[in-house]
Amino acid sequence: MQTTSQQGATTGYLEDTFLALDIGGTNVKSGLISRSGDILSYDSFPTSEGKNPTHLIELIADRLKILWTEAGSNHRPVALAIGAPGWIKPREGIVVMAPNIPGWKDLPITRLMSQALDIPAVLENDANLYALGEWLRGAGKGANNQITLTLGTGVGGGLILNGKLWSGSFTSAAEVGHIPIGGNKRICGCGRPGCLETVASALGMASVARDYLAQKGETLYKGPPEAVDSKLMLELAENGDPMSLTIFKAAGEAIGFVLAGIFNLLGLETAVIGGGGAGAFKFMEPSIKEVMGRHLVTAVIDQIHIVKGALEGNAPLVGAAALLNSSGF
Ligand SMILES: [Zn+2]
Repeated sequence: MQTTSQQGATTGYLEDTFLALDIGGTNVKSGLISRSGDILSYDSFPTSEGKNPTHLIELIADRLKILWTEAGSNHRPVALAIGAPGWIKPREGIVVMAPNIPGWKDLPITRLMSQALDIPAVLENDANLYALGEWLRGAGKGANNQITLTLGTGVGGGLILNGKLWSGSFTSAAEVGHIPIGGNKRICGCGRPGCLETVASALGMASVARDYLAQKGETLYKGPPEAVDSKLMLELAENGDPMSLTIFKAAGEAIGFVLAGIFNLLGLETAVIGGGGAGAFKFMEPSIKEVMGRHLVTAVIDQIHIVKGALEGNAPLVGAAALLNSSGF
């Protein structure tokens, strides 16, 4: 009996799996994912390999087919989750506009990918998939009510309430990066003044650094202002650079004010800080907690968790499993 069942496991057993796609302005990442969020196989290629919008879609479909074929006959992908940046309409499956992907306008990506692979597809905002990943398997695992911030080119957000992704009533929710900070007059990429991401995103912090240099602030940095970026600032901060430490502290304070408001509104228990900019989390953490400690009324600071993301770039692929499970696949 035992031998028979083992043979069955190696020859005839089909495991339902998911395909996950994370389309970024720099790279397109994809993976074959188990229902519980294990990444079974992984692929990545530069987004710039797509010569035009149609070619990029064809490339993505081809790479997903290869991933599927290489996974072997024991795995049967039952659905695809697509994470996309920019302005999207998840329910309609349309990327309205992706600023970092030239030519993607009103793109019915869900229909196109579904037709190419012959499986159902679901579209979600990339920050929401990231949040679902950290919630399912990462730094926010086990938290019933949490917010995830992704510090990258902009500041993305994903909100989990009562164990479910909060989508709001319209095209998006949890746009934490565009919550205004009082007194901040910097103009955001969205065209509005004062948004959190003007001081807490990688681009925002680099812009603040250029102003700091123009005002001859104290710093260890000797290069041209235009060459400052958040990665360089992180290296400088490790060496005690006053400019980088000042800017990370200010970013932490701004995040702290926004989080205090969100926590007071929703009674959350966890905030996960992820994305490329989370490398500077240790420099932001004291000011985030100091500001929250002053303004929090729904809990005391020791009861809540402000943590750095644990999954980094894989979070959206892991989150695909949570999204597809909750979508009934
Ligand atoms: Zn904005």
